[in-house]
Amino acid sequence: RAGTRHPVLTHEWAALLPELSLPSVPALPPEPRLLALNEPLAHELNLDVDALRSADGIRFLSGEPGDARPVAQVYAGHQWGRFQPILGDGRAALLGEIRDVDGRLRDVHVKGSGPTPMSRGDGYAVIGPMLREYLMGEAMHALGVPTTRALAVVATGAVRPMDGLPGAILVRTATSHVRYGSFEYVRVHGDLGLLRRLADLVIARHYPRAAGARHPYRALLTEIVEAVARLTADWMRLGFVHGVLSTDNVLVGAETIDYGPCAFLDTYEPDAFFSSIDEFGRYAHERQPEIMRWNLDRLGEAVAPLLHDDLAEALSIAADIVAGFGEAFARARREAFRRKLGLVGDVDAATVDKLTDAALALLADHGVDFTGFWRDLAAAAEGDERALRSRFLGEVLALEEWLVAWKAQGPDAAVIRAVNPVYIARNHIVEEVLQAATDGDLAPFDELVDLLRDPYTERPDARRFALPAPDGTPRHRTFC
Ligand code: AMP
Ligand code: MG
Ligand code: MG
Repeated sequence: RAGTRHPVLTHEWAALLPELSLPSVPALPPEPRLLALNEPLAHELNLDVDALRSADGIRFLSGEPGDARPVAQVYAGHQWGRFQPILGDGRAALLGEIRDVDGRLRDVHVKGSGPTPMSRGDGYAVIGPMLREYLMGEAMHALGVPTTRALAVVATGAVRPMDGLPGAILVRTATSHVRYGSFEYVRVHGDLGLLRRLADLVIARHYPRAAGARHPYRALLTEIVEAVARLTADWMRLGFVHGVLSTDNVLVGAETIDYGPCAFLDTYEPDAFFSSIDEFGRYAHERQPEIMRWNLDRLGEAVAPLLHDDLAEALSIAADIVAGFGEAFARARREAFRRKLGLVGDVDAATVDKLTDAALALLADHGVDFTGFWRDLAAAAEGDERALRSRFLGEVLALEEWLVAWKAQGPDAAVIRAVNPVYIARNHIVEEVLQAATDGDLAPFDELVDLLRDPYTERPDARRFALPAPDGTPRHRTFC
């Protein structure tokens, strides 16, 4: 059918990078039903909300191509430290791009839309995990973290044969879906022209300043390293654990992607990990900076041929640029925790780092709720330390000493409240609303999304959403 009523998409990716685009028509669901529509995002994309809710709109959101030319994107990647030469969209398709209100292109991509030439499973997805991705993206966006965002979740009306669970499609938007693994795929194929076309697209879409540099591709890698360092610091400041940081799950545009295995910490356990497939904690919370740097090294190797004609020289330039991650991350982390501590005056770097590290050590030693502790600093800065103290058992000398040192720096309660959320997506609450949604009741999900869109404002009627899981709740486990 002619898709004239569907929103107009561009097909820049497929046109410029046909080698990385396998035509792949989404499987259309038998009885599509809209479960969630992201109205604020629809506005940002210049899309009409009523039109999206119409029968035509729902078909569009189900992946019906209309005039679009859906493609599965081809990429490779390092998973668990090992190189996989072909991964690619195994249950997803890029429908095209759409220009947002700021004039930027954003990918419109469907996930759970059936088998593709690169499927390593049936190609389908189910309601719980797709709503989870929608919710996590909105939570991260509200917390000021660059992220892919879902425009909608559509129930397919079919059950997935493998487990009998109700099927769903996620419509995901991203400033692009270019993964480190996209570059790695091209690198293995040794096509310098293609590598240059891919890098040029990334410069145009994400890092236009690099185009004017003396060495645009070196500038590109430098900008990616800095953006990824800031993103990693965002994860660390929020107690976020991505879950599976393989190089196919990290974007050169430095937005968080692939929310299947992620979780937020309740109790601060730096070595916590939740993914059911992460046997040894490779992607544990505190290892994320190290692993993100490791991933950048793989990206650096992949883009190296663009950095210098001599490959040995090129690889050494790449390694030098990626080595900048250490300093960039330390700076981004310091600025993030400076605000979390409310220290906006001219407190020197060493003092901020010392207070940060000492606070984290206290939280780890005493098993304190991460989100709650930081938020309670606001009242403490105003002289009421009761809530903060109640998070520790009995008198803790180290806490007393820390409070004295911290207060001496003149913390600002308003700053603390502006950057330390009251509400995060707590695992036990997320599970609860997803179960209800899977059983047919979407109200708790909608309520939680609303709350997480405004995470800094305390609501008296929402107290339970700010509390950690009840004692005795088993460690949360996540799945891809
Ligand atoms: P992920 O672990 O979600 O990053 O996926 C890794 C690779 O497996 C990607 O190429 C996915 O497209 C593919 N994949 C994941 N789940 C499925 C599925 N249910 N069916 C087909 N391919 C899948
Ligand atoms: Mg993935
Ligand atoms: Mg995934």
